Amino acid sequence: MVKRFFELQEKVLSYYSKANTRLLKKAYSIAADAHLNQRRASNEPFISHPLEVAGILADMKLDEISIAAGLLHDVVEDTEYTIDQIETHFGKEIADIVWGVTKISKISNFNPEDAKAETLKKMIIAMTNDVRVILIKLADRLHNMHTLDHLPEEKRKRIARETLDIYAPIAYRLGMGKMKTELEDIAFKYAYPEEYERISNEIEHKQSWATQKLENLKTEIEKIMEPFNITGEIDYRIKREISIYRKVMRQNITLDRVYDLLALRIITDSVENCYLLMGEIHQRWQYIPARWRDFIANQKSNGYQSIHTTIITADGGKFEIQIRTAAMHKMAEEGIAAHWQYKEGISFLEDDERLQWFRDLIEAHKENPDPQEFLKQVKGDLTTNEIYVFTPKGKVITLKKGATPIDFAFAIHTDVGYHCKGAYVNEQFVPLRTRLQSSDVVDIITSKNISPSADWLKYVSTSRAKKKIAAFIQKKENLLYLERGKKIWGKVIKEYKRKHDLKFNEEDITERVNKIFHVDMDTFFRDIGSNKKVLEKKSLKTLFPEITVPEITPAKKASKKSSQVFKLINVDGYQDIDVLFARCCSPIKGDKIMGYITHNRGLMIHKADCLNLKNTVQSRLKEVSWNEVADFPYEVKYDLIVPDKPGVLSAISSITASHDSNIKRITLEKISQQLCKVKLTFEVKDTQHLNRILNELKKIKGIDSIIRRKIPAHV
Ligand code: MN
Repeated sequence: MVKRFFELQEKVLSYYSKANTRLLKKAYSIAADAHLNQRRASNEPFISHPLEVAGILADMKLDEISIAAGLLHDVVEDTEYTIDQIETHFGKEIADIVWGVTKISKISNFNPEDAKAETLKKMIIAMTNDVRVILIKLADRLHNMHTLDHLPEEKRKRIARETLDIYAPIAYRLGMGKMKTELEDIAFKYAYPEEYERISNEIEHKQSWATQKLENLKTEIEKIMEPFNITGEIDYRIKREISIYRKVMRQNITLDRVYDLLALRIITDSVENCYLLMGEIHQRWQYIPARWRDFIANQKSNGYQSIHTTIITADGGKFEIQIRTAAMHKMAEEGIAAHWQYKEGISFLEDDERLQWFRDLIEAHKENPDPQEFLKQVKGDLTTNEIYVFTPKGKVITLKKGATPIDFAFAIHTDVGYHCKGAYVNEQFVPLRTRLQSSDVVDIITSKNISPSADWLKYVSTSRAKKKIAAFIQKKENLLYLERGKKIWGKVIKEYKRKHDLKFNEEDITERVNKIFHVDMDTFFRDIGSNKKVLEKKSLKTLFPEITVPEITPAKKASKKSSQVFKLINVDGYQDIDVLFARCCSPIKGDKIMGYITHNRGLMIHKADCLNLKNTVQSRLKEVSWNEVADFPYEVKYDLIVPDKPGVLSAISSITASHDSNIKRITLEKISQQLCKVKLTFEVKDTQHLNRILNELKKIKGIDSIIRRKIPAHV
């Protein structure tokens, strides 16, 4: 193994002769010591794994910090060593990276899909702090993929699919074409062994025919280059199995119909030569305009640059040709990793657009902590095909498949997004919800009088547009609350002054509000306007302690409980009706519900199938629905019959805690020699949230039953 370390050191020295070999040696010896008695599934000594991972990082020519962290990446997770020890030995920079890698592997979710979402979120957050964490994680995954053979088939498939779902798309997003390709190629073989087998057989069948055709075309292109004295390299390939699979699946076509089955790449020395060659090639052969793309002038959001064009030769052969410079090629292969190569290893990449993309993603999902939703959205954002549409001036805008003119408008500029009124697509006026197609030319019409509505959220698919629209609506809502709060306050304070014949100046009031409620006036008004703060006698009294007379009548007297509930429910035709949840069936957001107009307590919300509703006057029933936007914690009560063993309560509370649910009450009561009854009251957001928690609770070891507690019926 020491020999393999020296090979690694040689590799690093070959691209960076001044590398700190003492640091590398120390990292190796501590890692070797820590993993001393551990073995991989392949039965190799464990240290072979970190050595290989560091080797992959050295192939990427990364800085010595990354290499050392790569050697140490499993030490904290799998051995007795602590992160503090790593920091003492290697300093904060390396320790932070190792900790970042370790944290990603620590998953608190039991449910595999939630765990996937959690991993992904952690990876993104870690990466926006220091990209090297993700470079190590990707190298780690690549080596694990290479040694997948030693694992049982089920596990192999799961890991391979996770690689396709998460790791390869992240590599793509970071512009690391080579990493993405390698990960996909191995993963595809393990994740879809039959499909892989079938397609690679088909390819093999065509191999010699294809090579002949590509070789011929290569010779012809070289002939074109000759008179211009252009130096360049041409290589060619048959499309990869996974890309063929995707294409064949998506478009439901046979192999012969795949346009870019045969592809040639020309790597030349200058941008001018790229365009010159493109022109000559378009002169010589017929090309397909819809498949011609200039990613040199309009680079992809992950930094990729190249010209793509598809030609048809006289005998009907179709070839995709990519033309780029050597520098562009390097960027396409290495992406963000290029920034961490030894010579530039210090830059922090704050403004890298590829990272901004991930930051936006995290930002957009802060509002919705549901891991399933997050996974769905991110997977969509990461893997959905991109479409390329044009501005009227010919600039290419990259969007997600399914994007609409609203997405396009926000991609152009936030203000264009905020005021987009309509769009011309290919000179036709279309509704804003129209889905765009690649190569559409889109012209946005704006108007000062237009602003985003909640409806728009249904029509957009990019995170950027979603985030901007949500922020706008929030701002508008806040303004509304502010106005409303000011009005309510104005009335109350007027009444108050009149009743008590007192003179307050505004500064005086501001000072008191700051001091007593710890908020500025705008927040104070907004809280009143949104019913978050209700002006009761009590709060007015605290605000004006000099008044002893208790008689105060606020202008609007909504009971706190009701007004809050009112926001959760949509009731057509009623403005200020009191709304309460029925205790008999305690509906939770997501349940089918029905309102019942009571004699004096306002509108009572029941579950639609509540037995109490069956015996009531039908004319008093009122259709209601949930307000999708507003959230509220709903209390639910369950009785669990569990084994009378220590640890049961902590198992229950760790399940609720991992799902962000508060326990309001929990009591334990022995009911037999072995069993006890846990009475549990906890809060949930909606029925989905509840079901996820129940599913986890059902898995508690030895649990006998879990039953919703009944409350005596009454309306
Ligand atoms: Mn590892």
